[in-house]
Amino acid sequence: MTMKVNGFVKTNQQAPSINGKFNGTAVRNIVDTDIIGDNHIATCIDTPMREDAFLLNDEQKIEIIQDKFREIMETLGLDLRDDSLNGTPYRVAKMFVQEIFSGLNPKNRPKISVFENKFQYGEMLVEKNINLNSTCEHHFLPIVGKAHVAYISSGEVIGLSKINRIVDFFSRRPQVQERLTVQIANELKKILKTEDVAVVIDAKHMCVSSRGIEDESSSTITAEYSGVFERQDRKDEFLKYVALGK
Ligand SMILES: [Zn+2]
Repeated sequence: MTMKVNGFVKTNQQAPSINGKFNGTAVRNIVDTDIIGDNHIATCIDTPMREDAFLLNDEQKIEIIQDKFREIMETLGLDLRDDSLNGTPYRVAKMFVQEIFSGLNPKNRPKISVFENKFQYGEMLVEKNINLNSTCEHHFLPIVGKAHVAYISSGEVIGLSKINRIVDFFSRRPQVQERLTVQIANELKKILKTEDVAVVIDAKHMCVSSRGIEDESSSTITAEYSGVFERQDRKDEFLKYVALGK
């Protein structure tokens, strides 16, 4: 499949087969992928996944990634007989599958119960400074920051910690901040059956601070506003609450 991204034609790599061996020649344009990566462009709102993404179970994935990561370390010239390095391939594989990329698997999607809005609270509810730990999909380096979320109930509410769980689930994927912001907003809209949702993310990208341009002070802010939050007064009110106590 080819698609146009920012004036460049992107040729997708052919999918690897189940045993991890590549099924064909990967055609890539190095300049093209570099430009996409360093500009952190998101090409799709859904995380691009293959249809066979879950034919392998977690244990099988850990085993394959462990072998591949050992190869990477050996290629770098590291001596894996050293006690300190010996367990690293397994640790990294387990961390990828069960921790930092566990949000790729729909079975880990938080189950959220909704409750009747008994207090008839009709103003916006803001949950701010939600810890966010994600991974940049272009460099596989951490994205660390805060998410601020607001919604206005259409008659149903959810437990406050559930908002943190939703942020966490979508963060635990190789991500692009813009996509993460929209995915969180869309999930809340679906669960709360309302369009009145706002999400702002303020995050630092290790791929900007520790490599490339090496800017340690900048952070990236993304926002998704829908329903009444598209109105300037509602947006301002939300941002005023987010700034409170900062
Ligand atoms: Zn990056």
